[in-house]
Amino acid sequence: MLKLAIVGSGPSGFYVAEALLKSGSVEVNMLERLPVPYGLVRYGVAPDHPKLKLPALAFARTAALPGFRFIGGVTVGRDMSVGELREAYHGIVFCGGAETDRELGVPGEGLPGSHAATEFVGWYNGHPDYLERRFDLTQECVVIIGHGNVAADVCRILAKPVDDLRQTDIAEHALDALAESRVREIHLVGRRGPAQVKFTDKELRELGEISQASVSVEPGCLDLNPASVAEVNDPREQAAGWNMQLLREFAARSSADARRRIFLRFLESPRELYGTDHLEGVVLEKNILDGPPFGQTARGTGRLLRLDCGLLFRSVGYMGVAIPGVPFDARRGIIPNAQGRVLHDGQALAGIYCAGWIKRGPSGIIGTNRADAIETAAHLLSDFTSRDDLPAKPGASALLPLLASRGLRCTDFQDWLKVDAAEIARGAAVGKPREKFVRIKDVFDSISDQAAA
Ligand code: NAP
Repeated sequence: MLKLAIVGSGPSGFYVAEALLKSGSVEVNMLERLPVPYGLVRYGVAPDHPKLKLPALAFARTAALPGFRFIGGVTVGRDMSVGELREAYHGIVFCGGAETDRELGVPGEGLPGSHAATEFVGWYNGHPDYLERRFDLTQECVVIIGHGNVAADVCRILAKPVDDLRQTDIAEHALDALAESRVREIHLVGRRGPAQVKFTDKELRELGEISQASVSVEPGCLDLNPASVAEVNDPREQAAGWNMQLLREFAARSSADARRRIFLRFLESPRELYGTDHLEGVVLEKNILDGPPFGQTARGTGRLLRLDCGLLFRSVGYMGVAIPGVPFDARRGIIPNAQGRVLHDGQALAGIYCAGWIKRGPSGIIGTNRADAIETAAHLLSDFTSRDDLPAKPGASALLPLLASRGLRCTDFQDWLKVDAAEIARGAAVGKPREKFVRIKDVFDSISDQAAA
């Protein structure tokens, strides 16, 4: 029997598991550092986007397939080495996603009041790692750097009336803090122009649909250079055209009477964050675009302006994190690979694979990871077509005692189903789809309570 380990239980991990298990007689053990599964679907998707969490239903069906086992609460590279994992399994697929954020690399980035968007996302989604983070929502002016969907998520959560979030699965502590928010202005700052925003049109449209909020675009910002006109008019790339149409609609709107105002700003790059013991603002440099259609980059003009703000989120992309014992491309934040086969000095490492954001970088929507996972699974299976002379591997029968001997308390999928039911019941009591346990201890207490009942 081919025994395989998947490291990470987010979308790519589950899509790889599905592809492998559907191929026939394999055993798949999915290792996850948290005691609960689903990674980005549970902790990354915005609470007001419940439809994007529906893949979790398909993941639960995968978990019910014969040969699947979930092992939660184990960090590979810390609780056990990759070498130990290789001893126990024929193959390992790393699906850890992109766990950290990119930095701006400008002075003042470390000032209190300057945060990564990933921290805020983890905090409002009840990720245990971000529970203790504090965001100064007494500030009236917030700046978000980046024009991607994560920036749009952060902007919506800051701009929406708190009553519009009460029926979501947003963490209770975030709801309480947002109820006291004094935020009035949110500036979304992009280094390139309106034709190059990375928002999908649905996310951009939503910014204009927030109740009691306005969205403003200076009409002059929508004048395009010839290369951008070519991008917008290219029939193969309709997204830019749709976004431009929305931006023109926004530019024509009035913002009178809005409780909160969103400003979409273009062609500006942060050069410095200023403040003495707390963030007081950001110096922005005006840019122009250089290069051919679809290859335009932002070039500073030397013209600087100051934008006072007490809270800033950088939302300029995610990065993967290295695992000791696994090759890593630190510049790109990915595991070097050829269609999912992990490479060391350009050579494929036998039995080591990767999928998802740690394979290709943080791009695409959740569904994008399915095709990516199928590619990796296909290569893995083709590397093991002849299984007659495979050495026997112990899989979980060696792994679980090893982890227990190190004092780790691991969870299985049945444990998760108990936690899931308890969270849904807690949510129902307050009119939410779910009230997450945000402390790891509370997850384990819930499992123990139900075992005792
Ligand atoms: P993203 O889409 O890559 O956007 C990053 C933004 O940051 C871009 O506007 C980029 O500008 C800008 N940027 C990068 N480096 C910068 C710098 N040094 N200074 C100033 N600006 C900089 O990344 P993301 O928003 O983190 O999203 C990651 C992935 O998750 C995307 O594929 C996204 O679609 C997906 N996602 C989807 C949803 C959804 O489906 N609802 C929600 C959240 C995330 P340039 O274009 O100039 O590089």
